[in-house]
Amino acid sequence: MISDSKYFDHTVKCSLCHHEIKERATLYPTGLEVKIVCVDCYRRFSEEDLELIANLLRAYGGYFGQYKRGKISILKILKAIHTDLLSIDKDAEAVQINIRMLHEALLHGITPREYIDNLELIFGD
Ligand SMILES: [Zn+2]
Repeated sequence: MISDSKYFDHTVKCSLCHHEIKERATLYPTGLEVKIVCVDCYRRFSEEDLELIANLLRAYGGYFGQYKRGKISILKILKAIHTDLLSIDKDAEAVQINIRMLHEALLHGITPREYIDNLELIFGD
């Protein structure tokens, strides 16, 4: 459920990507909290993804697009993240690796959709 858009007369940052919101923002509830997101994030993500992303960022910190990925391909970034995570904890369970990978992907500005699309390329062969 999305509530009405609001106008702000002071600086507010998007809770997902930390962009300054100057015009319209959208408020949406995640669990018990109400989050503010910019129009870009609201358009970019499904409601399910908004909640997922908000929860991951709350649990592990950072914000969407925190690291600039430049011209490096999503696949390359995900492979590097995967290698890093395994080198830190090679006995980590697949579910845990998946959650940490998705969180790192978000920090690199990779959407859950792009993440899922590329996972097959990493683990499919
Ligand atoms: Zn945003």
